[in-house]
Amino acid sequence: MQKLISKLAKAYPNLEVKAGDRFQFTPPATLFYAEKTDYANNEAKLLLLHELGHYLIGETDYSSDIELLEIEAKAWAEAKKLCAKYSVKYDEDFAEDRLDSYRNYLHEASLCKVCQLSGYQDGHGLYHCPLCGATWQQKTPPM
Ligand SMILES: [Zn+2]
Ligand SMILES: [Zn+2]
Repeated sequence: MQKLISKLAKAYPNLEVKAGDRFQFTPPATLFYAEKTDYANNEAKLLLLHELGHYLIGETDYSSDIELLEIEAKAWAEAKKLCAKYSVKYDEDFAEDRLDSYRNYLHEASLCKVCQLSGYQDGHGLYHCPLCGATWQQKTPPM
């Protein structure tokens, strides 16, 4: 893991790679990695490359949950490319599991709290129910 971190720090001199509580990319250019983690070594590397993927695709703003899911999928696609470059084993199941947590979140977030129908989201992140007209806010997405 330390080897990979120093390689990335060298390859991306504008990026600050720092120890933190969890794997996270913070715009504009800080990449956090968890020093203490329950993830297996390879999974931790994948999470780091995924977060680097966020930096490389450069899209951090989203106005709807669907966009958020798209950004997540793109960051994993980027991580896959990085795996080949840095000799890390890409784990499709692991990436899919992570994406599933977003998909589940997306599904739950879209359900009307009154009548359980799937609502739609406007450009401000507010959900509307097409049946009863209820509105509700986007929840905080999973990490
Ligand atoms: Zn992500
Ligand atoms: Zn409703």
